[in-house]
Amino acid sequence: MRNPFSKLILIWAVVLCLPCTLMFPAPPDEGMYPLSEILKLDLKSAGLKIPITDIYNPSGTSLVDALVRLGGCTGSFVSGNGLILTNHHCTFDFVRQASTVEKNYLADGFYAASREEEIPAQGLTCMITESYKDVSEEILQAASAASVPAERVTLIQKKIRELTKSEEKSNPGIKAEVSEMFTGKTYILFRYKILKDVRLVFVPPRSVGDFGGENDNWVWPRHTGDFTFVRAYVGPDGKPAEYSKNNIPFIPKRFLKVNPNGVDENDFVFVLGYPGRTFRHFPAKYMEFQEKYQLPYVSKLFESFISLYEELGKNNPELALKYSSRIKTLANTEKNYRGKILGLQRLELVKQKQAEEAELQQFILADQIRTAAYKDLLHDIDEAYMEQCALGRTSFFVSSIRARIYASRLATQLIEYKSEMCKPENDRKSAYSAKNRALLFEGYAEDLKEADCYVDGLLLKRIISEAVTLPELSNFEPLSQFRNKTEEQLTSEINSLLNHSIVFDSAKFMSAVKDSSNLSWQVDPLISFMMKLDTAYKPIEKRYETINGKLNVLLPKYLDVKHDFKQKSFVPDANSTLRLTYGYVRGYTPVDATYYKPITTLAGVMEKGVAGGVYTVSPKLRALYDKKDFGRFRHKKLNDVPVDILYNMDTTGGNSGSPVLNAWGEMIGLNFDRAFEATINDFAWSESYSRSIGADIRYILFVTQKLGGADKLLNELGVE
Ligand code: ASP
Repeated sequence: MRNPFSKLILIWAVVLCLPCTLMFPAPPDEGMYPLSEILKLDLKSAGLKIPITDIYNPSGTSLVDALVRLGGCTGSFVSGNGLILTNHHCTFDFVRQASTVEKNYLADGFYAASREEEIPAQGLTCMITESYKDVSEEILQAASAASVPAERVTLIQKKIRELTKSEEKSNPGIKAEVSEMFTGKTYILFRYKILKDVRLVFVPPRSVGDFGGENDNWVWPRHTGDFTFVRAYVGPDGKPAEYSKNNIPFIPKRFLKVNPNGVDENDFVFVLGYPGRTFRHFPAKYMEFQEKYQLPYVSKLFESFISLYEELGKNNPELALKYSSRIKTLANTEKNYRGKILGLQRLELVKQKQAEEAELQQFILADQIRTAAYKDLLHDIDEAYMEQCALGRTSFFVSSIRARIYASRLATQLIEYKSEMCKPENDRKSAYSAKNRALLFEGYAEDLKEADCYVDGLLLKRIISEAVTLPELSNFEPLSQFRNKTEEQLTSEINSLLNHSIVFDSAKFMSAVKDSSNLSWQVDPLISFMMKLDTAYKPIEKRYETINGKLNVLLPKYLDVKHDFKQKSFVPDANSTLRLTYGYVRGYTPVDATYYKPITTLAGVMEKGVAGGVYTVSPKLRALYDKKDFGRFRHKKLNDVPVDILYNMDTTGGNSGSPVLNAWGEMIGLNFDRAFEATINDFAWSESYSRSIGADIRYILFVTQKLGGADKLLNELGVE
């Protein structure tokens, strides 16, 4: 018999749950949605109050037109005069370069009260997405001509070069980039406008912009004012141009409106930006490779580099300033990787993925057609990754030497330059084309400034002394001269490579690059060593090409069958292209018996400030707090200035500097980090632990006005 009360119970259940759902909207989905997906999203029911076409409108202007890719970060236009808001940590190295021990803008902050005082951030470029087109068909067509797996990768790269070159030729002033959305499946050509003249406008002191330093990096609760204002300039004709005094501020198609009233807990928010790289669509074996090899190798290496740099700068302010950004960058990755290792262990991600794959295999075998198409798929993927694991530490060793030490990096660049110059112009990598050569030389000049015989020797010794202990490298010929050596012998072997190298002399190095009759590089011991390394590594590179060629065919199939199995479509992993993610301002429970609220305040800055050191609070900020001089930035309920906010969105590195927008598309925060537990979300996202961190717009404006005295900037933002 039907229970007469069941209907009543149901009605009550609905009535009781209604306020809950209104108060606590459903969690967002995992996903960094590319431009092609934005218009398909139902953000209205998630809480958006403006038409979706206000966010993205390919046939008009929209919020995405205010977004820029700034170096490896994101930024957004916040005024009609090219003013951009981004993170302090994104401009850190440019501020360091502009600083001296006496005039230390990192320590004291910087404000250009007039345009003339703005400082060029040399080398910082600003990319604006103009449009995009799907080129998958052309690329896959070219790849299909491959007779062996390794050739597939070469053919894809060749086609990409052809497409970007022809696009740039028919659209002068545009930079074309092809991004792989799904491996071996989807390729999109993006057209970017590049602004090369970017200048520092307002930088808070490090005690605000980097408050908490490495202790607080990747941590919530957070109290960092991680923001900087820069301005983009163009030539007097409005076209992108190199730095010149005569340049004028760039007028963006669209800029974001800043809302000084901020947000509250549970408010709907979304982020637009350029997330760098995620690996969610990768199988169990890839995760195992990360857990066992890549993450521990890199974090250990970086840890030792950091202590070396710290030691060098200990009693030397000039070196401390010089190495400050290197330490910061290394420490950022090192801690992130530590978080990832912990996350992999906590979630038992490898096991989880293995279980998922076992289910997938059963699903495949349950159907004849699927069996015919995919029976060996998972086995073949495993095999490819197993081979990658075996090569892993050899490739980390080689790439660390090539990329992490300025001296050997310059040697590698010179070797590559010479080899590219032997090819006809049309076959050269785009960085080596005549049109990009000035940029290439600028890069060399930057590295030449940084190379240091003594320091590079120490770093090289650190890498080599570990490499000679690795069984995988026991037959690697270039290392033979360093085996079975005492500490002193090893030091002297390394010194003999470096001591007279041209990489420590800009004039000699550039002459060797530019003058084809100058053959000094061929007898340079360091360059010869790097050439030997290249030769020994060639066969391994070939094996990588074969593995990648195989994966290029296997991974799309993996995605297809996973799609059938899960009955849902996937969003592509992040790849530095423009994305949207959405969610809510929300706290979380990272460990048993805790709950973290999602908004921090100035009171928390004062609390941490007691410790000093990386928690130094300037007397001026303390006085503002003591007088409760919060201006219009006081949060009424909290009776304090909100400092940072936490939200359950899907972000990663590269989202640094992304605007956090409210339901009306107004800027209420600036994304800059994630919680420690969320570092694993590059491999697996979950609403329960994935939390991103932003600076509250009220704190940004409060610091700019009350601490920095930059009322003029607030006027430019339209904030009274
Ligand atoms: N702070 C981060 C970074 O350095 C941003 C993130 O990964 O969430 O890239």
